[in-house]
Amino acid sequence: MNKILIIEDELAIAELEKDYLELSGFDVEVETTGDVGARRAVSEDFDLVILDLMLPNMDGFEICRKVREVKNIPVIMVSAKKDDIDKIRGLGLGADDYMTKPFSPSELVARVKAHLARYERLIGTGVRENTAFEIRGLKVDKTARRVFLNGEEKIFTTKEFDLLTFLAENPNHVYTKDELFREIWDMESVGDIATVTVHIKKIREKIEYNTSKPQYIETIWGVGYRFKV
Ligand code: CA
Repeated sequence: MNKILIIEDELAIAELEKDYLELSGFDVEVETTGDVGARRAVSEDFDLVILDLMLPNMDGFEICRKVREVKNIPVIMVSAKKDDIDKIRGLGLGADDYMTKPFSPSELVARVKAHLARYERLIGTGVRENTAFEIRGLKVDKTARRVFLNGEEKIFTTKEFDLLTFLAENPNHVYTKDELFREIWDMESVGDIATVTVHIKKIREKIEYNTSKPQYIETIWGVGYRFKV
């Protein structure tokens, strides 16, 4: 059963959302303060979070940011003010959906179902076999497109993930920046081989203990990069 966390300080609204979601078969919990809600969203195993914007102790912006640091689960942000919704949309906080209060509970249930279905397709729950590999504490889950270092998730952009995966799946092979650019970025993409350098730097910041002595992606001076196994 999918577990949903509602972080909402208006209890009447939270209870209404909870009732409708439970009738649709979801397991629902409610928190009414931002700090406790954030702590539970980050540390517990929820499948989706419904997040009010204005909350006591910590606002929805901050909570969304904290959740996104560690999780890819769908986040639906709600606010009573249409202006706020437009503003947060523009901020690119990483919420998956935005709703303006008041909304019909059945609309909320429909969106929750759609986001969970999309998320489950993304992580391939119970459908495809998980293709993951692990190298000295660095685990790359190709199905879910998630990266963990010693069990701690590191958030990767699409290109960073593609680049790391390509290098790791072709270990001990030295690739030039040109080759990597052609491999990972399509012809239409703006940018040049300096993009490769920037992405390698960002990947190292996420997975290397010491970025000046990288243990995964080595720089071969004057040539390119190599993934060491
Ligand atoms: Ca509120």
